[in-house]
Amino acid sequence: MQYPFVIAIDGPAGAGKSTLGARLATRLDYLYFDTGVMYRALTLAAMQAGLELHDQAAVEALATRIVIEVTPPTHDDGRQYTVLTDGNDVTWPIRSPEVEAQVSLVASYPGVRRELVRQQQAIGHRGRVVMVGRDIGTIVMPEAELKIFLATSLDERARRRLHEQRDLPHLPPVTQVRASLARRDDLDQHVLHPADDAVILNTDGRSPDEEVAWIMAYLARPT
Ligand code: C5P
Repeated sequence: MQYPFVIAIDGPAGAGKSTLGARLATRLDYLYFDTGVMYRALTLAAMQAGLELHDQAAVEALATRIVIEVTPPTHDDGRQYTVLTDGNDVTWPIRSPEVEAQVSLVASYPGVRRELVRQQQAIGHRGRVVMVGRDIGTIVMPEAELKIFLATSLDERARRRLHEQRDLPHLPPVTQVRASLARRDDLDQHVLHPADDAVILNTDGRSPDEEVAWIMAYLARPT
């Protein structure tokens, strides 16, 4: 079977893009590239540099200076990859609630998107890659041969988020998790629409293994 050169997986926060993307990449022996980490890394760097995050020009200037690298995992601590900004390992700090609360603002700046999309395209064009994000199928790699858009209800996403966090000492109430996902949906609306030729995959009630099986069957279908 001839596999696509580039697979794009887009969808809202908490839809399971990372789990699906990583599994699919392992299955196909492709690179897994989660583009959200670049927006997160820039947000963290701006916070650490003491920038006022509403200062669009300052944040856009930082985006052109900072070196963000995503490498295979360098530690065996459950990470799917290692993220470095200017050589510093920020893999876990970019997952903090503080970064999560600000990342969509930073990602809304055109100068930031221009710079990070350019870097993402350079990686995408090397091929054999599963790229995960919001705008991969529409903006970053519109030439991707397979574009999947995950459509997952807000309730299911909130339920999954809580399940992921089940080992934390203080679990937030489901209403709070739901509200923060809904807020991010609102802020990300400008990039959250499927490409015209995307396959819409509703993942409610489907396990990641079932999603991978569905995609493999889709790829194997007679054309
Ligand atoms: O996917 P993740 O939740 O890590 O993405 C963090 C944020 O980065 C998103 O909420 C969105 O604001 C931004 N993002 C984006 N375009 C992408 C990937 C992420 O705007 N391709």
